[in-house]
Amino acid sequence: MLKVPINEIIEKISEASGLSDAEIKKKIQEKMNSLEGLVSEEGAAHIIAHELGIELFKTSYEKEVKIKELPIGLRKFEIVGVITNVFNVKTFKKQNKTGKVASFILEDETARIRVTLWNEATDLVETGKIAEGKTIKIKNGLVKINKYQGRENKEIHTTSGTKIEFDVEEKIEIHDRTKAPAYEFKNINQTKAGDLVKIRGTVVSVFMPKLYFACPECNKKIEVENEKGICKDHGDVKPKKTALFSFVVDDGTDNIRCVSFRETAESILNMSPEDIEVAQEENINQRILGDEVEIVGRVNENKQSGKKEILLSGVNKNLNPVQIAKSILGDN
Ligand SMILES: [Zn+2]
Repeated sequence: MLKVPINEIIEKISEASGLSDAEIKKKIQEKMNSLEGLVSEEGAAHIIAHELGIELFKTSYEKEVKIKELPIGLRKFEIVGVITNVFNVKTFKKQNKTGKVASFILEDETARIRVTLWNEATDLVETGKIAEGKTIKIKNGLVKINKYQGRENKEIHTTSGTKIEFDVEEKIEIHDRTKAPAYEFKNINQTKAGDLVKIRGTVVSVFMPKLYFACPECNKKIEVENEKGICKDHGDVKPKKTALFSFVVDDGTDNIRCVSFRETAESILNMSPEDIEVAQEENINQRILGDEVEIVGRVNENKQSGKKEILLSGVNKNLNPVQIAKSILGDN
């Protein structure tokens, strides 16, 4: 094993995970205690890094890497993906300095990842260079653990070494969640619990989105005390801020409540959990109320109300009238 000074290991873990030095030292100490003196401080630090999925030695990838394989802590890499969601630029204040931040979702065949742009780099969003549907290549940045999502959800932060290329010829096939073959077009009055359906209708009522804390392992709602979460199945966990958004769709035959969670809720609203936290009612209504939508999901029976509802796996908000006509005529 390569000899790396303990302070460098701690610095690397801190940079990639967002944990403070004190939190990491505490984890190292706990690990040493639990292994009853079998490992050194360095050894324990390596184990902590491994548990968090942080790559300590590999610093660069020679060739392109897929999003799923992107190791946490990496700074030199090349990835190509399709932009599938762009979030608005926001300004923030930190230590009396004003900064700007924006983010977007990049997808390839293997996974999706949030890319966060800081300060001048946010111009790419404001000028429309970063836009949905574009294929781009990102060279270099910092791969970090998304602190709201846990280790399975990495994110890329741009750094001074980041370059983004827009003239990419490579063709990326992304998995389109709204086109899964098992989903069948139905009228709302024909649906029953258990059906996997696609429905076209109008959003007639919208509920304010909510945030709750969930376990990063199983996504179940958990109680949080002093920033610590406790899951019945997974013990002490880092709470994940999770969005819940629901609305009612009417297709002329009936209406049904549609419920979305996590990334699905975020992508329907085109908002991050941080955006949702400060959102106003008008702002939410503007995004979706009155829209013609195609919803995709599973019909469930709500245990409390006994009414049918749809657990959404996707919403297509940009309906193309020609496509609709073709599919109604059975030409799709
Ligand atoms: Zn859990």
